[in-house]
Amino acid sequence: MGSETDIRVLPLKVVNKIAAGEVVERPASVVKELVENAIDAGASRIDIEIVNGGRKLIAVHDNGSGMNKDNALLSLERHATSKIKDVDDIEKIATLGFRGEALAAIASVSRLRLTTCSSGSGGTEIITTGGTIQDVRDIGRPVGTTVEVRDLFFNVPARKKFLRSYQTEQGHIRTGFIVQALACPALGMTLKTDDNLTYSLAGGGNLEDRIRDMFGADYLLSLKQVDYQTSNVKVEGYISVPGLNRADRNEQYVFVNDRSTSASVLSFAVREGYHTVLAKDRHPCVFLFVKTNPENVDVNVHPTKKEVRFREPSEIRDAVIAAVRKALAVSAPAMDDISKKEAGIRIPVPGVQLKIENLPVTRSFKCPRVDFAFNESQAKVRHDDRKLEQVEKEKGCEQEKKTASSSPWEFCRVLGQIGNLYVVMETEDGMVLMDPHASHERVLFERYMGAVTGGKVEMQNLLLPETVELGPKDALRVRKSMGLFRKIGFGISEFGGDAFVVDAMPSYFSGVSAVTLLADIASALEEAGQRGGERQLEEIIAQVACKAAVKAQDKLSLQEIEQLVIDLAQTEMPYTCPHGRPTLIFTSFQELNKKFGRG
Ligand code: ADP
Ligand code: MG
Repeated sequence: MGSETDIRVLPLKVVNKIAAGEVVERPASVVKELVENAIDAGASRIDIEIVNGGRKLIAVHDNGSGMNKDNALLSLERHATSKIKDVDDIEKIATLGFRGEALAAIASVSRLRLTTCSSGSGGTEIITTGGTIQDVRDIGRPVGTTVEVRDLFFNVPARKKFLRSYQTEQGHIRTGFIVQALACPALGMTLKTDDNLTYSLAGGGNLEDRIRDMFGADYLLSLKQVDYQTSNVKVEGYISVPGLNRADRNEQYVFVNDRSTSASVLSFAVREGYHTVLAKDRHPCVFLFVKTNPENVDVNVHPTKKEVRFREPSEIRDAVIAAVRKALAVSAPAMDDISKKEAGIRIPVPGVQLKIENLPVTRSFKCPRVDFAFNESQAKVRHDDRKLEQVEKEKGCEQEKKTASSSPWEFCRVLGQIGNLYVVMETEDGMVLMDPHASHERVLFERYMGAVTGGKVEMQNLLLPETVELGPKDALRVRKSMGLFRKIGFGISEFGGDAFVVDAMPSYFSGVSAVTLLADIASALEEAGQRGGERQLEEIIAQVACKAAVKAQDKLSLQEIEQLVIDLAQTEMPYTCPHGRPTLIFTSFQELNKKFGRG
């Protein structure tokens, strides 16, 4: 050990610099803090100027309340804030700031100029260098505040070295700007970088306007509105239809009481909400606003307030899951005025008879072409007819409560099947490729899930009860879940050791062997193990639906395809199979026109 050293309290300047290390990570953090202050000051308009990725200048102008001279001087002191008064206030924070650290921290690592004016006072200008006040004077200016931050980190060479390229810092600033613009859609905002106007957003609008302004009108078409409320939690915003998804989470904007934030429970809930409609490695785009009493949220977890904690995480989680599920099940807008109604099938209003007419539908032309003529006699039907009969039977009782409102299109014309697999169709908006296996999976999944949760699974007794011998692990799982197996329509009992007797199966799965099903369900049980409840059931039913669905190599008759299209259109989530693979790939006429150079 070394010799004893004296302990001393650090000078304020050093303390501020240390704190600055936490609050001011990079130029984008300065922008964030200054904009938050402007929002807290009630500004309706905020203009941001950036020069050289924020190294040279970051300026934020607002038309908020402004400050008088005393407050302006205080605002630069550490732990000086107007937003909380004592400890209790930390329990219910409704402003973005409250730590009273940002301005002091920013000032300590830059050359700062603050000009401000409140309605009851004259204007003030304060100039500081590395946190030391250089000059204070009275000036004339309109009500509001301007903070100019120059030469960030000029006195912290170590930090300066860590700044990334101009592009990177600029990117962070833009991303931060987008987040703040989404958080406050009514705010007029501009971002000017090196004399270019990067964003100019009119104020006064709502979230929809803001998304349209920043992401484009087309993008908005792929979003569903979220609107859900429990007694304690409100969840609003927009989320993408399953077809619009990404490999990363970069377009997930989540706000808690209008503060951009992350909390693992929130991303988990979004994930869960999309369970069975999105593949595991894909992520939706979300703009979610979670609102709850500030007392239920702890924002004082992180100096930059990036993270929050909830007093009742499960309540928030369940609300977000329910909100997402509800939004995804909401129907697509009905298309009216379809000009091509004459040829082709129409997605039914229940009870209306459908017919495919005029097949083949394409004009013949003089190069070798695929034979679209397609009928039962030509097609070797390997598809298990019983399944469709079953499906028909089910429809009888199911159809009343389902409507075609969620159908992806209103009109469609089946042109044939290619590669012995994909179904090609024309709809009013373009061309659709359908994967019949994935589609059938979706249809079976929803029907079966509906039957199970409604306690109405039809069972079919096996002529010869099957004895199934499982491996010890699988057997253990099955034994633990006998109740569940009965619930989902299996007549199953133990036969000693690791053997089971199956004497009845859900009628959806006639033709599928009990051995395969049991083993599959056992492994699905393991996968879903931790989650329990509804989720476990979904996993299992997705698994069996996959086994029972028509196989990729099955040749389908035209009637079967038609029926499948109709059935799919009536599901709640027609665009993906329960495992999240797409059922339909759509190419719009617009897109085709573009590809063919037709403008
Ligand atoms: P905090 O935001 O956590 O209170 P800051 O250091 O960011 O801490 O700001 C300190 C105080 O300065 C704020 O509480 C507020 O009273 C005042 N202030 C800062 N920026 C502005 C602004 N743009 N308009 C009006 N007042 C401001
Ligand atoms: Mg602040």
